[in-house]
Amino acid sequence: MALQAIFLDLDNTLIDFSTVRRQAYVAAAAAIKTYYPGLPNKELIRVQREKTAEVYREFISGEIDYDTQCRERFQRVFNHFGIKNPALIKYLAWFFNNYQERNVKPYVSSEVTLQLLARKYRLFIITNGPYPHQKRKLKLARLSPFIEKLYAPGGKYKGKPEPHLFLSALKEANLRPKEVVHVGDEIADILGATNCGIKPIWIRPPKNEVGINDIGELPLYLKQVNSENLAI
Ligand SMILES: [Mg+2]
Repeated sequence: MALQAIFLDLDNTLIDFSTVRRQAYVAAAAAIKTYYPGLPNKELIRVQREKTAEVYREFISGEIDYDTQCRERFQRVFNHFGIKNPALIKYLAWFFNNYQERNVKPYVSSEVTLQLLARKYRLFIITNGPYPHQKRKLKLARLSPFIEKLYAPGGKYKGKPEPHLFLSALKEANLRPKEVVHVGDEIADILGATNCGIKPIWIRPPKNEVGINDIGELPLYLKQVNSENLAI
């Protein structure tokens, strides 16, 4: 069975999410400190990280929606410091995501690689980030033209490693698991794909695991995958 389509994770697979996220924490801390100059910068960034991870887990498991996630991240930071300022929370909820959209950084190899792959395969994004935010990032990274559809958690669809997004993409695109590979950087990508019978490709895999180190290596790697795993 020949490879027909490639499912791709977005953050830290096609775009450098970690760097921009780190910068967004610093920028949000600076915005908070214009109103509360006495707050310790390091602690502000640490608490943002902690609360962001907390609300993100709740978002991908479907406990809270996107707007709640954006607001709660800073509500909990402010609770930690004993501050009440709903207008600033509302502003930061917008600021934090807008900062990451405006400063989105695709890897240098992403555009040329997708352009090449799109001539041969159907390409889809399977992301755990919120739909409107990820759609805007994909567009601002100039990668939208190569992507047939983006799948993100929401409503009854839980994020990776749950199977919902993979299964709905397979169904809507009329693809069988053996006709697809999924490329991603996290264990949730690998488990999610494997659980659906889709071959995972690990980008920057941990020690002792196989994979690729950059999306630009994918075209050559697929040649090997195609002959080993899919040409049955
Ligand atoms: Mg990722």
